[in-house]
Amino acid sequence: MSGNPEAKHGSARRARVVVVGGGLAGLECATALAGHGVDDILVLEAGPGEDLDHIHRAYSRERASEMVFAPEGDPYFHRPWSSRTRPHYTGISGLRRRLGGRSLYWHGVILPLEDWALREPWWPAAVVTDLTTGHRGGPSLYEQVTADLLEWSGAPAGDAAGPGTRRFGGRSFLPLPRACRAVPGGDRWEAYTPLERWRDGDGRVAPPPGIGVRCGTDVLAVEVRGGRARGVVIGDGAGGTRTIAADTVVLCAGTVESTRLAVQALTVAGVLREPRLGGLADHIVQGFVVRLPSGGPPPGSFYVPTSPATRSYLRMDVTPDGPGACLLDVRITGEQLPDERSAVECRPSAAFPWPTRVRTGLGTEDRQLVAAQRQVLRDFWRAAAPEVGVRARPLEFTAFGDADRDNTRVLPGRTRRQPVGRPETWTSLLGTEDHEGGSLPLGRVLTPRHEFAGLPGLYAAGPAVFPRLGAANPSLTTIALSRRLAAILAAGPR
Ligand SMILES: Cc1cc2nc3c(=O)[nH]c(=O)nc-3n(C[C@H](O)[C@H](O)[C@H](O)COP(=O)(O)OP(=O)(O)OC[C@H]3O[C@@H](n4cnc5c(N)ncnc54)[C@H](O)[C@@H]3O)c2cc1C
Repeated sequence: MSGNPEAKHGSARRARVVVVGGGLAGLECATALAGHGVDDILVLEAGPGEDLDHIHRAYSRERASEMVFAPEGDPYFHRPWSSRTRPHYTGISGLRRRLGGRSLYWHGVILPLEDWALREPWWPAAVVTDLTTGHRGGPSLYEQVTADLLEWSGAPAGDAAGPGTRRFGGRSFLPLPRACRAVPGGDRWEAYTPLERWRDGDGRVAPPPGIGVRCGTDVLAVEVRGGRARGVVIGDGAGGTRTIAADTVVLCAGTVESTRLAVQALTVAGVLREPRLGGLADHIVQGFVVRLPSGGPPPGSFYVPTSPATRSYLRMDVTPDGPGACLLDVRITGEQLPDERSAVECRPSAAFPWPTRVRTGLGTEDRQLVAAQRQVLRDFWRAAAPEVGVRARPLEFTAFGDADRDNTRVLPGRTRRQPVGRPETWTSLLGTEDHEGGSLPLGRVLTPRHEFAGLPGLYAAGPAVFPRLGAANPSLTTIALSRRLAAILAAGPR
């Protein structure tokens, strides 16, 4: 993919809608807004906009994995916060600062949030109805977005991820639904990005009419006057700042950055007692990886739907590893519950951006979930190992938060050296699953219309707005809610 999406608005001083952040949520929201006929939308993106390929299109599997798990090799990796609870929110936890954001890195897993998570008092009823029942007289947002993404992927209608349920290790695995497609002429693939909807027949990428894009523009603050958001503050390139005025500002800068901008704005507006917002959560994920000699399950990605008892779902990825052999990567993904003590905190200072720190930790129920997940993994391996002719060595885990046994253990350079049949366990550090969210919840910090309850004119999208995460990967819901917000803004005030 190539092009110059910054064709217009290079030095605009005013826009009807300013979208802060050109990643998954920001680009989806802007594109949907333009689709509703709204014009004068300006996307401000901190990173560059020349390199618009998904990493699995641009690089080999091994190199793409290294960019994710050894991010010092990724020129776009950037972490604008520090952690008060290291090692969580360190290591691979950070932004990928470029137009497209993490939509150029994600694996395309699209699962809806579970009924047990999408319920009151957590999620507002109006939002749940739009997601699951029907949106503005049409199908539900989940139905619409899933259909669009599967069509883009080239999957047959109604077929989420290829054929076949697999029975393995005493479990029935379903194909994992993914918004991905093969790149012709090789073994590479790409996942959906909203930039795909900007691509013309020649492969050039340009924003649709109504959208301007300004890359290399770090938004320092939201402009607040008279108790409402009036625009954004950016650098002027000469050490000073200048304002871009807007009727509406939408924060889509990733969870921690959007929350940093919100904390600043709400503090300036006098509606926050302390410069912090709680509720920050990530998924709790652990697993094991094992090389199998032969007779393993067929290649592909499979999952067992969530069990409400563990608030987690089990996933298995099988990759060929030499003749007849395979690499089995098993992980269980569960919900860290929102907690006011897990927070994004700012230190007010003379200039923006205010220094930002992240704090997190496990509550009692989260710790129980960690133990329950480990039991699921042990039971699964005990049943699976004999099926593939391997001795079921017990899975050993170290303490939660052990930086020496985190999710970087799945790097190809490590797994290649692993003895056949010997599973290696790992547990992700919080903030390193790239699923962080929850600090700007709909129905509390935001109204059910995505507007800040304490600051009219300011809106947000992305996993930050989830009142609780559930176990499912966030992006199907992120895309759906970005489209929901666009429809609300296009319809105007009620
Ligand atoms: C390797 C990997 C695999 C993943 N796989 C999946 C998956 O299979 N399924 C799933 O559901 N999710 C997956 N995710 C998570 C998913 O990609 C993220 O949840 C999603 O991209 C978040 O969207 P966002 O718009 O909030 O943030 P981002 O996509 O990160 O976009 C934020 C954008 O804002 C810009 N920005 C930040 N600060 C500023 C500022 N101050 N001014 C201007 N611009 C700014 C950034 O540069 C960035 O472009 C994966 C993520 C990674 C990294």
